Amino acid sequence: MKNKKAAIIGAGFVGASAAYSLMLDGTADEIVLIDIDHKKACGEADDIAHGVEGTANAAIYAGAYSDCRDSDIIIITAGRGRLPGESRIDLAAENIKIIRSVTDSVEPYYSGCPILMISNPVDILTASAERLLGTPEGRVFGSGCMLDSSRFRRCIARTVFPSDKARQAGCAESIGAFVIGEHGDAQIPLWSGVSVCGKTAEEYCAEHDIVWNDDVRQAIYRETRNMGSSIIKAKGRTNYGIAVCASRIARAVLDDERFTASVSSTMGLGGDNIRASLSLPYVIGGKGLISGAPLSLSPAEKECFEKSAAGMTEMIKDLL
Ligand code: NAD
Repeated sequence: MKNKKAAIIGAGFVGASAAYSLMLDGTADEIVLIDIDHKKACGEADDIAHGVEGTANAAIYAGAYSDCRDSDIIIITAGRGRLPGESRIDLAAENIKIIRSVTDSVEPYYSGCPILMISNPVDILTASAERLLGTPEGRVFGSGCMLDSSRFRRCIARTVFPSDKARQAGCAESIGAFVIGEHGDAQIPLWSGVSVCGKTAEEYCAEHDIVWNDDVRQAIYRETRNMGSSIIKAKGRTNYGIAVCASRIARAVLDDERFTASVSSTMGLGGDNIRASLSLPYVIGGKGLISGAPLSLSPAEKECFEKSAAGMTEMIKDLL
Protein backbone atom coordinates (compact mmCIF):
# COMPACT_ATOMS: atom_id res chain seq x y z
CA MET A 1 0.00 0.00 0.00
CA LYS A 2 1.23 3.50 -0.84
CA ASN A 3 2.71 5.59 1.97
CA LYS A 4 0.42 8.36 3.22
CA LYS A 5 2.49 11.45 2.60
CA ALA A 6 2.08 15.05 3.76
CA ALA A 7 4.21 17.90 2.40
CA ILE A 8 4.44 21.01 4.55
CA ILE A 9 5.68 24.15 2.82
CA GLY A 10 7.13 26.63 5.31
CA ALA A 11 9.05 25.22 8.26
CA GLY A 12 8.51 28.18 10.58
CA PHE A 13 6.65 28.09 13.87
CA VAL A 14 3.37 26.94 12.30
CA GLY A 15 4.86 24.49 9.78
CA ALA A 16 7.17 22.83 12.31
CA SER A 17 4.38 22.61 14.91
CA ALA A 18 2.06 21.09 12.29
CA ALA A 19 4.73 18.49 11.44
CA TYR A 20 5.14 17.71 15.14
CA SER A 21 1.37 17.38 15.62
CA LEU A 22 1.09 15.16 12.53
CA MET A 23 3.90 12.96 13.80
CA LEU A 24 2.11 12.48 17.15
CA ASP A 25 -1.20 11.87 15.37
CA GLY A 26 0.36 8.86 13.63
CA THR A 27 -1.73 8.96 10.44
CA ALA A 28 1.00 10.03 7.99
CA ASP A 29 3.75 7.59 7.01
CA GLU A 30 5.90 10.35 5.53
CA ILE A 31 6.14 14.04 6.39
CA VAL A 32 8.35 16.32 4.31
CA LEU A 33 9.21 19.89 5.32
CA ILE A 34 10.04 22.31 2.48
CA ASP A 35 11.37 25.81 3.12
CA ILE A 36 13.50 28.35 1.26
CA ASP A 37 15.66 28.13 4.36
CA HIS A 38 16.56 24.47 3.81
CA LYS A 39 18.91 24.40 6.79
CA LYS A 40 16.09 25.40 9.11
CA ALA A 41 13.80 22.76 7.59
CA CYS A 42 16.55 20.15 8.19
CA GLY A 43 16.92 21.22 11.81
CA GLU A 44 13.18 21.09 12.49
CA ALA A 45 12.75 17.74 10.72
CA ASP A 46 15.65 16.15 12.62
CA ASP A 47 14.44 17.52 15.94
CA ILE A 48 10.94 16.07 15.38
CA ALA A 49 12.25 12.80 13.95
CA HIS A 50 14.36 12.13 17.03
CA GLY A 51 11.17 11.71 19.06
CA VAL A 52 9.59 9.20 16.72
CA GLU A 53 10.75 5.93 18.28
CA GLY A 54 8.05 4.43 20.46
CA THR A 55 5.40 6.94 19.39
CA ALA A 56 4.76 6.84 15.65
CA ASN A 57 6.73 5.56 12.72
CA ALA A 58 6.51 8.44 10.28
CA ALA A 59 9.58 9.30 8.22
CA ILE A 60 10.19 13.02 8.70
CA TYR A 61 12.71 14.85 6.56
CA ALA A 62 13.50 18.16 4.85
CA GLY A 63 12.92 17.98 1.12
CA ALA A 64 12.38 19.90 -2.09
CA TYR A 65 9.33 20.87 -4.18
CA SER A 66 9.78 17.68 -6.22
CA ASP A 67 8.61 15.86 -3.07
CA CYS A 68 5.12 17.21 -3.76
CA ARG A 69 4.85 14.79 -6.71
CA ASP A 70 3.52 11.86 -4.65
CA SER A 71 2.13 13.82 -1.70
CA ASP A 72 -1.45 13.14 -0.60
CA ILE A 73 -1.82 16.57 0.97
CA ILE A 74 0.19 19.79 0.70
CA ILE A 75 -0.03 22.17 3.64
CA ILE A 76 1.11 25.75 2.96
CA THR A 77 2.40 27.74 5.94
CA ALA A 78 4.97 29.90 4.12
CA GLY A 79 4.74 33.63 4.71
CA ARG A 80 4.78 35.92 7.65
CA GLY A 81 2.16 37.03 10.14
CA ARG A 82 0.61 40.47 10.53
CA LEU A 83 2.84 43.13 12.15
CA PRO A 84 1.35 45.39 14.84
CA GLY A 85 -0.74 48.08 13.13
CA GLU A 86 -0.43 46.47 9.69
CA SER A 87 -3.58 46.11 7.57
CA ARG A 88 -4.73 42.77 6.19
CA ILE A 89 -4.37 44.17 2.67
CA ASP A 90 -0.71 45.09 3.24
CA LEU A 91 0.00 41.60 4.56
CA ALA A 92 -1.97 40.09 1.67
CA ALA A 93 0.04 42.02 -0.91
CA GLU A 94 3.28 40.65 0.51
CA ASN A 95 2.16 37.07 1.20
CA ILE A 96 0.50 36.75 -2.23
CA LYS A 97 3.99 37.16 -3.73
CA ILE A 98 5.20 34.30 -1.54
CA ILE A 99 2.17 32.14 -2.42
CA ARG A 100 2.74 32.86 -6.12
CA SER A 101 6.34 31.68 -5.81
CA VAL A 102 5.15 28.59 -3.86
CA THR A 103 2.47 27.67 -6.45
CA ASP A 104 4.96 28.26 -9.31
CA SER A 105 7.35 25.86 -7.60
CA VAL A 106 4.67 23.26 -6.80
CA GLU A 107 3.00 23.32 -10.23
CA PRO A 108 5.51 21.19 -12.18
CA TYR A 109 5.08 18.39 -9.63
CA TYR A 110 1.43 18.88 -8.70
CA SER A 111 -0.62 15.70 -8.99
CA GLY A 112 -3.96 17.20 -7.92
CA CYS A 113 -3.95 16.34 -4.20
CA PRO A 114 -5.75 18.58 -1.68
CA ILE A 115 -3.89 21.73 -0.70
CA LEU A 116 -4.52 23.19 2.74
CA MET A 117 -3.73 26.90 3.07
CA ILE A 118 -2.77 28.13 6.53
CA SER A 119 -0.81 31.30 5.70
CA ASN A 120 -2.62 34.57 6.35
CA PRO A 121 -4.79 36.27 5.32
CA VAL A 122 -6.00 32.72 4.82
CA ASP A 123 -9.23 33.49 2.93
CA ILE A 124 -7.48 35.71 0.39
CA LEU A 125 -4.56 33.33 -0.09
CA THR A 126 -6.85 30.31 -0.50
CA ALA A 127 -8.73 32.01 -3.33
CA SER A 128 -5.41 33.18 -4.83
CA ALA A 129 -3.83 29.72 -4.79
CA GLU A 130 -6.97 28.18 -6.32
CA ARG A 131 -6.83 30.70 -9.16
CA LEU A 132 -3.09 30.40 -9.68
CA LEU A 133 -3.25 26.59 -9.91
CA GLY A 134 -6.59 26.46 -11.74
CA THR A 135 -7.87 23.70 -9.45
CA PRO A 136 -11.51 22.62 -9.18
CA GLU A 137 -13.53 24.00 -6.25
CA GLY A 138 -12.73 22.34 -2.94
CA ARG A 139 -9.28 21.03 -3.91
CA VAL A 140 -7.52 24.06 -2.37
CA PHE A 141 -9.06 25.09 0.92
CA GLY A 142 -8.01 27.08 3.97
CA SER A 143 -8.02 26.32 7.68
CA GLY A 144 -10.31 29.36 7.85
CA CYS A 145 -12.58 29.42 10.90
CA MET A 146 -11.73 25.93 12.20
CA LEU A 147 -9.53 27.44 14.91
CA ASP A 148 -12.11 30.15 15.66
CA SER A 149 -14.81 27.47 15.94
CA SER A 150 -12.68 25.51 18.39
CA ARG A 151 -12.17 28.67 20.48
CA PHE A 152 -15.92 29.39 20.27
CA ARG A 153 -16.79 25.90 21.58
CA ARG A 154 -14.32 26.32 24.44
CA CYS A 155 -15.84 29.65 25.46
CA ILE A 156 -19.37 28.21 25.32
CA ALA A 157 -18.24 25.19 27.38
CA ARG A 158 -16.97 27.45 30.15
CA THR A 159 -20.39 29.08 30.38
CA VAL A 160 -22.62 26.03 30.16
CA PHE A 161 -20.47 23.64 32.25
CA PRO A 162 -19.65 25.92 35.16
CA SER A 163 -17.86 23.50 37.50
CA ASP A 164 -14.16 24.21 38.01
CA LYS A 165 -13.05 20.83 36.75
CA ALA A 166 -15.14 21.09 33.61
CA ARG A 167 -13.85 24.62 33.03
CA GLN A 168 -10.30 23.38 33.02
CA ALA A 169 -11.01 20.48 30.70
CA GLY A 170 -12.94 22.72 28.32
CA CYS A 171 -15.57 20.03 27.74
CA ALA A 172 -15.82 21.44 24.25
CA GLU A 173 -16.56 18.04 22.71
CA SER A 174 -20.14 18.18 23.98
CA ILE A 175 -20.71 21.47 22.18
CA GLY A 176 -21.81 21.72 18.56
CA ALA A 177 -21.02 25.22 17.28
CA PHE A 178 -19.37 26.85 14.29
CA VAL A 179 -17.88 30.19 13.40
CA ILE A 180 -18.25 30.99 9.69
CA GLY A 181 -17.23 33.73 7.26
CA GLU A 182 -13.86 35.49 7.43
CA HIS A 183 -11.02 34.25 9.59
CA GLY A 184 -10.48 37.51 11.47
CA ASP A 185 -12.41 40.24 13.21
CA ALA A 186 -15.45 39.91 10.92
CA GLN A 187 -16.02 36.25 11.84
CA ILE A 188 -19.67 35.23 12.32
CA PRO A 189 -20.64 33.02 15.28
CA LEU A 190 -23.57 30.76 14.37
CA TRP A 191 -25.73 31.15 17.45
CA SER A 192 -28.72 29.60 15.69
CA GLY A 193 -26.91 26.25 15.48
CA VAL A 194 -25.33 25.99 18.96
CA SER A 195 -26.04 22.65 20.63
CA VAL A 196 -25.05 21.40 24.08
CA CYS A 197 -25.14 17.67 24.79
CA GLY A 198 -27.47 17.21 21.83
CA LYS A 199 -29.97 19.92 22.89
CA THR A 200 -30.28 23.51 21.75
CA ALA A 201 -28.31 25.87 24.01
CA GLU A 202 -31.60 27.47 25.09
CA GLU A 203 -33.07 24.11 26.16
CA TYR A 204 -29.93 22.94 27.93
CA CYS A 205 -29.43 26.22 29.83
CA ALA A 206 -33.10 26.43 30.86
CA GLU A 207 -32.93 22.86 32.23
CA HIS A 208 -29.73 23.59 34.19
CA ASP A 209 -30.53 27.10 35.46
CA ILE A 210 -27.77 28.71 33.42
CA VAL A 211 -28.18 32.25 32.13
CA TRP A 212 -28.14 32.31 28.31
CA ASN A 213 -29.05 35.77 27.02
CA ASP A 214 -27.67 38.45 24.70
CA ASP A 215 -25.16 39.71 27.30
CA VAL A 216 -23.77 36.21 27.84
CA ARG A 217 -23.57 35.61 24.08
CA GLN A 218 -21.85 38.96 23.51
CA ALA A 219 -19.26 38.13 26.19
CA ILE A 220 -18.62 34.71 24.57
CA TYR A 221 -18.29 36.31 21.14
CA ARG A 222 -15.85 38.99 22.40
CA GLU A 223 -13.72 36.39 24.16
CA THR A 224 -13.69 34.10 21.10
CA ARG A 225 -12.71 36.95 18.77
CA ASN A 226 -9.97 38.26 21.07
CA MET A 227 -8.36 34.91 21.90
CA GLY A 228 -5.93 35.02 18.97
CA SER A 229 -4.78 38.58 19.59
CA SER A 230 -4.36 38.01 23.33
CA ILE A 231 -2.06 35.03 22.59
CA ILE A 232 -0.12 37.15 20.09
CA LYS A 233 0.21 39.90 22.71
CA ALA A 234 1.53 37.36 25.20
CA LYS A 235 3.94 35.34 23.00
CA GLY A 236 4.19 37.10 19.64
CA ARG A 237 2.38 34.50 17.52
CA THR A 238 0.00 31.55 17.57
CA ASN A 239 1.22 28.18 16.39
CA TYR A 240 0.12 25.17 18.46
CA GLY A 241 -3.67 25.48 18.13
CA ILE A 242 -3.51 26.00 14.38
CA ALA A 243 -1.01 23.15 14.08
CA VAL A 244 -3.47 20.74 15.71
CA CYS A 245 -6.19 21.96 13.33
CA ALA A 246 -3.82 21.32 10.39
CA SER A 247 -3.02 17.79 11.50
CA ARG A 248 -6.71 17.02 12.17
CA ILE A 249 -7.55 18.15 8.64
CA ALA A 250 -4.60 16.17 7.26
CA ARG A 251 -5.96 13.04 8.97
CA ALA A 252 -9.37 13.63 7.38
CA VAL A 253 -7.67 13.77 3.96
CA LEU A 254 -5.16 10.95 4.45
CA ASP A 255 -7.81 8.57 5.85
CA ASP A 256 -10.50 9.78 3.43
CA GLU A 257 -12.77 10.46 6.42
CA ARG A 258 -15.99 12.40 6.19
CA PHE A 259 -15.00 14.98 8.80
CA THR A 260 -16.84 18.29 9.08
CA ALA A 261 -15.06 21.54 9.93
CA SER A 262 -15.59 25.22 9.23
CA VAL A 263 -12.90 25.70 6.60
CA SER A 264 -12.41 28.30 3.91
CA SER A 265 -13.40 27.62 0.31
CA THR A 266 -14.95 29.16 -2.79
CA MET A 267 -17.20 26.07 -3.06
CA GLY A 268 -20.85 26.89 -3.45
CA LEU A 269 -20.39 30.62 -2.93
CA GLY A 270 -21.89 31.69 -6.22
CA GLY A 271 -19.72 30.84 -9.22
CA ASP A 272 -18.42 33.75 -11.26
CA ASN A 273 -19.97 36.55 -9.23
CA ILE A 274 -18.40 35.61 -5.91
CA ARG A 275 -14.80 34.44 -6.15
CA ALA A 276 -14.14 34.85 -2.46
CA SER A 277 -13.07 32.09 -0.16
CA LEU A 278 -14.92 32.02 3.14
CA SER A 279 -15.57 29.49 5.86
CA LEU A 280 -18.63 27.31 6.14
CA PRO A 281 -18.90 23.82 7.58
CA TYR A 282 -17.66 21.52 4.80
CA VAL A 283 -17.23 17.74 4.70
CA ILE A 284 -13.55 16.82 4.17
CA GLY A 285 -12.30 13.63 2.50
CA GLY A 286 -9.39 12.27 0.46
CA LYS A 287 -9.84 14.64 -2.48
CA GLY A 288 -10.45 17.74 -0.38
CA LEU A 289 -13.87 19.23 0.26
CA ILE A 290 -16.71 16.93 -0.73
CA SER A 291 -19.69 19.18 -0.07
CA GLY A 292 -21.07 21.78 2.25
CA ALA A 293 -22.55 20.34 5.45
CA PRO A 294 -26.29 20.92 5.91
CA LEU A 295 -26.73 24.31 7.54
CA SER A 296 -29.61 26.64 8.17
CA LEU A 297 -28.68 30.25 8.85
CA SER A 298 -30.91 32.83 10.52
CA PRO A 299 -31.74 35.81 8.24
CA ALA A 300 -29.23 37.99 10.19
CA GLU A 301 -26.45 35.38 9.85
CA LYS A 302 -27.22 35.01 6.14
CA GLU A 303 -27.02 38.77 5.64
CA CYS A 304 -23.65 39.01 7.47
CA PHE A 305 -22.26 36.13 5.40
CA GLU A 306 -23.38 37.62 2.08
CA LYS A 307 -21.88 40.99 3.05
CA SER A 308 -18.57 39.29 3.87
CA ALA A 309 -18.57 37.40 0.56
CA ALA A 310 -19.21 40.56 -1.44
CA GLY A 311 -16.51 42.49 0.50
CA MET A 312 -13.97 39.70 0.04
CA THR A 313 -14.71 39.43 -3.71
CA GLU A 314 -14.07 43.16 -4.05
CA MET A 315 -10.81 42.93 -2.09
CA ILE A 316 -9.50 39.99 -4.11
CA LYS A 317 -10.39 41.66 -7.42
CA ASP A 318 -7.89 44.44 -6.63
CA LEU A 319 -5.20 42.09 -5.37
CA LEU A 320 -4.90 39.52 -8.15
P1 NAD B 1 7.40 31.98 10.36
O1 NAD B 1 7.99 33.27 9.94
O2 NAD B 1 7.88 31.34 11.62
O3 NAD B 1 7.57 30.91 9.19
C1 NAD B 1 7.36 31.17 7.85
C2 NAD B 1 8.28 30.29 7.06
O4 NAD B 1 7.99 30.44 5.67
C3 NAD B 1 9.76 30.64 7.23
O5 NAD B 1 10.48 29.50 7.69
C4 NAD B 1 10.21 31.07 5.84
O6 NAD B 1 11.55 30.73 5.55
C5 NAD B 1 9.22 30.31 4.98
N1 NAD B 1 9.09 30.83 3.62
C6 NAD B 1 8.98 32.12 3.22
N2 NAD B 1 8.87 32.18 1.88
C7 NAD B 1 8.90 30.90 1.42
C8 NAD B 1 8.83 30.31 0.15
N3 NAD B 1 8.72 31.05 -0.96
N4 NAD B 1 8.92 28.96 0.05
C9 NAD B 1 9.05 28.20 1.16
N5 NAD B 1 9.13 28.71 2.41
C10 NAD B 1 9.05 30.04 2.53
O7 NAD B 1 5.83 32.23 10.43
P2 NAD B 1 4.76 31.30 11.20
O8 NAD B 1 4.59 31.80 12.58
O9 NAD B 1 5.10 29.88 10.96
O10 NAD B 1 3.42 31.69 10.39
C11 NAD B 1 3.26 31.27 9.06
C12 NAD B 1 1.95 31.79 8.48
O11 NAD B 1 0.86 31.16 9.17
C13 NAD B 1 1.73 33.31 8.67
O12 NAD B 1 1.18 33.86 7.49
C14 NAD B 1 0.76 33.37 9.83
O13 NAD B 1 -0.03 34.56 9.82
C15 NAD B 1 -0.09 32.15 9.51
N6 NAD B 1 -0.94 31.68 10.62
C16 NAD B 1 -2.21 31.35 10.27
C17 NAD B 1 -3.10 30.93 11.25
C18 NAD B 1 -4.50 30.60 10.85
O14 NAD B 1 -5.39 30.40 11.71
N7 NAD B 1 -4.80 30.49 9.54
C19 NAD B 1 -2.68 30.84 12.60
C20 NAD B 1 -1.35 31.15 12.89
C21 NAD B 1 -0.48 31.58 11.90
